[in-house]
Amino acid sequence: MFLISSTGETYEARPAVPPTPPPGEHLWILVAMWAVEPGEGARYRLDQGNLLGAEGPGCFLCEQAWAPGIGPCTGMVPPTPPPH
Ligand SMILES: [Zn+2]
Repeated sequence: MFLISSTGETYEARPAVPPTPPPGEHLWILVAMWAVEPGEGARYRLDQGNLLGAEGPGCFLCEQAWAPGIGPCTGMVPPTPPPH
Protein backbone atom coordinates (compact mmCIF):
# COMPACT_ATOMS: atom_id res chain seq x y z
CA MET A 1 0.00 0.00 0.00
CA PHE A 2 1.28 3.45 -0.91
CA LEU A 3 0.03 6.86 0.00
CA ILE A 4 -0.08 8.87 -3.18
CA SER A 5 -0.69 12.55 -3.55
CA SER A 6 -1.22 14.53 -6.67
CA THR A 7 -3.27 17.56 -7.50
CA GLY A 8 -3.70 18.19 -3.77
CA GLU A 9 -5.47 14.91 -2.96
CA THR A 10 -3.99 11.94 -1.09
CA TYR A 11 -5.16 8.39 -1.60
CA GLU A 12 -4.03 4.83 -0.94
CA ALA A 13 -2.73 2.92 -3.92
CA ARG A 14 -3.15 -0.81 -3.49
CA PRO A 15 -2.11 -3.50 -5.95
CA ALA A 16 -4.99 -4.19 -8.29
CA VAL A 17 -6.00 -7.42 -9.95
CA PRO A 18 -5.75 -6.72 -13.67
CA PRO A 19 -8.88 -7.32 -15.71
CA THR A 20 -8.94 -10.39 -17.90
CA PRO A 21 -9.52 -9.43 -21.54
CA PRO A 22 -11.26 -11.82 -23.93
CA PRO A 23 -8.90 -14.37 -25.57
CA GLY A 24 -6.71 -12.74 -28.22
CA GLU A 25 -7.16 -9.19 -26.92
CA HIS A 26 -4.24 -7.30 -25.41
CA LEU A 27 -4.35 -5.59 -22.03
CA TRP A 28 -2.74 -2.25 -22.86
CA ILE A 29 -0.89 -0.41 -20.11
CA LEU A 30 1.28 2.67 -19.79
CA VAL A 31 4.08 2.67 -17.21
CA ALA A 32 5.19 5.97 -15.68
CA MET A 33 8.13 6.65 -13.36
CA TRP A 34 8.49 9.31 -10.67
CA ALA A 35 11.46 10.15 -8.48
CA VAL A 36 10.45 9.52 -4.86
CA GLU A 37 11.97 9.64 -1.38
CA PRO A 38 11.03 6.47 0.48
CA GLY A 39 10.62 6.40 4.23
CA GLU A 40 8.39 5.22 7.05
CA GLY A 41 4.93 6.59 6.36
CA ALA A 42 6.16 8.37 3.25
CA ARG A 43 3.67 9.93 0.90
CA TYR A 44 4.65 9.95 -2.72
CA ARG A 45 3.95 12.98 -4.83
CA LEU A 46 3.19 11.92 -8.37
CA ASP A 47 3.11 15.11 -10.35
CA GLN A 48 4.83 16.62 -13.34
CA GLY A 49 7.67 18.06 -11.25
CA ASN A 50 9.13 14.64 -10.40
CA LEU A 51 7.90 12.66 -13.40
CA LEU A 52 10.93 10.98 -15.01
CA GLY A 53 9.20 9.42 -17.98
CA ALA A 54 6.63 7.05 -19.31
CA GLU A 55 6.82 3.97 -21.51
CA GLY A 56 4.14 2.33 -23.56
CA PRO A 57 1.58 1.50 -24.39
CA GLY A 58 2.51 -2.14 -24.13
CA CYS A 59 0.61 -5.31 -23.36
CA PHE A 60 0.57 -6.41 -19.73
CA LEU A 61 0.14 -10.04 -20.82
CA CYS A 62 2.50 -10.62 -23.76
CA GLU A 63 4.80 -7.59 -23.16
CA GLN A 64 4.68 -6.52 -26.81
CA ALA A 65 4.77 -2.83 -27.60
CA TRP A 66 1.72 -1.42 -29.33
CA ALA A 67 2.15 -0.99 -33.09
CA PRO A 68 -0.34 -0.41 -35.88
CA GLY A 69 -1.72 -3.72 -37.05
CA ILE A 70 -0.28 -5.74 -34.16
CA GLY A 71 -1.60 -9.29 -34.16
CA PRO A 72 -3.72 -10.92 -31.51
CA CYS A 73 -2.42 -11.40 -27.99
CA THR A 74 -0.96 -14.81 -27.21
CA GLY A 75 -1.25 -14.11 -23.50
CA MET A 76 2.37 -15.18 -23.05
CA VAL A 77 5.75 -13.46 -23.24
CA PRO A 78 7.59 -14.65 -26.37
CA PRO A 79 10.65 -16.77 -25.52
CA THR A 80 13.99 -15.00 -25.63
CA PRO A 81 16.41 -16.56 -28.12
CA PRO A 82 19.44 -18.12 -26.42
CA PRO A 83 22.68 -16.10 -26.57
CA HIS A 84 25.27 -17.19 -29.12
ZN1 LIG B 1 -0.76 -8.99 -25.49
